Amino acid sequence: MKILHHILLAISTLCFYNTIAQDQLRVGINGGDPHLNAQVFITEGSYVVTYNDKQVLDLPAASQIELTAQGSLVTLKHQGKVIGNYQRLIIQSQEWESKFRLSATQASKKKSNYVYPDNLIVRALKGRLFLVNEASVERYVAGVTEAESGAKQELEYYKVQAIIARTYALANKDRHINEGFNVCDQVHCQAYHGIARYEYRIPIATWDTKDQVLVDSDINLITAAFHSNCGGHTLNSEYVWSKPLPYLVGRPDTFCLVMPHSNWEKQIPKEKWLNYLRSHEDFDFDEASDSLVMAFYPTERTRYFSDSLRNLRMTTIRRDMGLRSAFFVIDEDEEFVNFTGVGFGHGVGLCQEGAMRMARSGFRASEIIHYYYKEVHLIDKKYIDFFREE
Ligand SMILES: [Zn+2]
Ligand SMILES: [Zn+2]
Repeated sequence: MKILHHILLAISTLCFYNTIAQDQLRVGINGGDPHLNAQVFITEGSYVVTYNDKQVLDLPAASQIELTAQGSLVTLKHQGKVIGNYQRLIIQSQEWESKFRLSATQASKKKSNYVYPDNLIVRALKGRLFLVNEASVERYVAGVTEAESGAKQELEYYKVQAIIARTYALANKDRHINEGFNVCDQVHCQAYHGIARYEYRIPIATWDTKDQVLVDSDINLITAAFHSNCGGHTLNSEYVWSKPLPYLVGRPDTFCLVMPHSNWEKQIPKEKWLNYLRSHEDFDFDEASDSLVMAFYPTERTRYFSDSLRNLRMTTIRRDMGLRSAFFVIDEDEEFVNFTGVGFGHGVGLCQEGAMRMARSGFRASEIIHYYYKEVHLIDKKYIDFFREE
């Protein structure tokens, strides 16, 4: 009986540490870039500064510290006095709702100023600071939901964005592991500016969907791609990236057609456009192709620009010409080529403006998700581990 008790205790201890690791995410602040200095101001709750698990300083509400780097050491200053130099400091929250404001200056002199939940990890290298916010997954999800979708949307829409943000974070938690964090706070991963502060529906949406993630038929977390506006039809993933995925398949979408980013126009000087096309080695420039590239009217979304330019993808033109989408027609006038397009973004997966309008029309979060992602399942994240152990 005693042995059984010890085994159970060992298992529960293991589960406890597992739970902590799974419920926290380390987010590289300002994309993990180096900083010249940082000030931390405790806005709510209290904190302690620790080095090697030893307490260096108490930080009650409204207290402030300054951090700079000397070689590979972090210099900690409090009330104008240097407290010491340390290899790695953790500004550790002491209450459930503790928050701090971080004002940081990047090596590029760019400043950032946001309020973060939970903990801050600080280390130094070559006279620069590197900052990581260790946040609970759910607070991170709420922060991403606000940064990626803004204010004044329906609760059901915020639930969709929260489920996507959570799925993305858990599917990509090794993306920056060599840099000492899980995900960065830029669009490279997902935009994150600390806690959600401006829209009361976002914490509710995050809480209502707590732990819910999207998986495919093999119970793998999906690549939850999304974009601003598809222009009336979403795209297969292989049109934009090389890999086809069974749940990222194109489908018609009329919901986004009346939304702000449904249409765009851009003029490019004729010579610039022709020189761009000529720079592609398989471009056979003659009069016939000249008229083709000046009057381009595809009736549906195409992957490549023309038969005479086999390797030129629409997505490449979008990137090189700085267009809002890869779905456009072309005509010419005297000096310019006129691009008239629909949509904004890569067009794969969920169309945000379509989803916003679906939510306004009364569709529920799960209906919106199943409209844009084919044959996916919404499950509690703990079942992923359950199925893995089978
Ligand atoms: Zn990233
Ligand atoms: Zn759309």
